[in-house]
Amino acid sequence: MNRYFLCCLLFLCIEFNSTPDSGFWGFFGHKKINRLAVFTLPPEMIGFYKHHIRYITEKAVNPDMRRYIIEDEGPRHYIDLDVYGENALDSLPKWWEDAVEKYSEDTLMAYGIVPWHIYKIKNYLTTAFRSQDADQILRLSADLGHYVADSHVPLHTTKNYNGQLTDQVGIHGFWESRLPELFSDDYDLFTGKASYVEDPQMRAWEAISAAHAAIDSVLRFEQELTNRFDESKKYGFEERSARTVRVYSYDFSNAYHRKLDGMVERQMKSAIKMTGDLWFTSWVDGGQPDLDPLMGEPPADTLSPGRGPLFRLRKHESGEDIK
Ligand SMILES: [Zn+2]
Repeated sequence: MNRYFLCCLLFLCIEFNSTPDSGFWGFFGHKKINRLAVFTLPPEMIGFYKHHIRYITEKAVNPDMRRYIIEDEGPRHYIDLDVYGENALDSLPKWWEDAVEKYSEDTLMAYGIVPWHIYKIKNYLTTAFRSQDADQILRLSADLGHYVADSHVPLHTTKNYNGQLTDQVGIHGFWESRLPELFSDDYDLFTGKASYVEDPQMRAWEAISAAHAAIDSVLRFEQELTNRFDESKKYGFEERSARTVRVYSYDFSNAYHRKLDGMVERQMKSAIKMTGDLWFTSWVDGGQPDLDPLMGEPPADTLSPGRGPLFRLRKHESGEDIK
């Protein structure tokens, strides 16, 4: 099952879910990360972002929603490092043009491009600040927070993204949706102030590297607990939107969460910090414009990431491009 299909299935048919709680950071996690990143910003920026905090929060999930309608959106959320061999982090070119030259764009798109896409969106955001385009600043800020958050999820950096290769199907949403929903109220997500990032492209790779290093623990701990828990104790049922869905039980989730020893909290916190850092860096690189005159209405409620040639849209069934 490919990722696009997986996400559609989860979004539309959760009551048929035989793979408990699969998803993506969960809408809950993405919104929380974008929202909290606002509070890392300096005085020159925070007024504008607070004014639009509802938009920044709600639209944190736009890139996932776009996966259903935009060609090429899917690969922007992950990178299957392990398809490039044992030492992928050393052998994969860090810059997009070099990577295309070595592997071809088709190959890169087939296995995910999130670290390069973060850098690309950061540059678009810089341009939006330079041209003082409030709509674009907001859309791209919301998007950037999403991709940064995805780059912090260990299972977004492996071809075994949902445990499908190790008989652990469902672990993706378990880690990034179920655990934060159950336990993040107790997290300390205070990150301090945003700081300038000298090399955003390398910063994206650092995030990927840290996330990838955690995969072994993510998979192994779940397996160890599965061996200890009776199937009837591993799963439970909850009511969601008047439907009964199978979920990982509280006891199993709690045991796994404790074994992970703060990993989800650390990754969430790092995602918040990096999101604030890249918003701030884009603003600095964009000439530090005064944002006060830009406070107005948020952009129209649309999934569109904005203007420009960045996004190729899928053809509608009618044959018309979706606008
Ligand atoms: Zn995503």
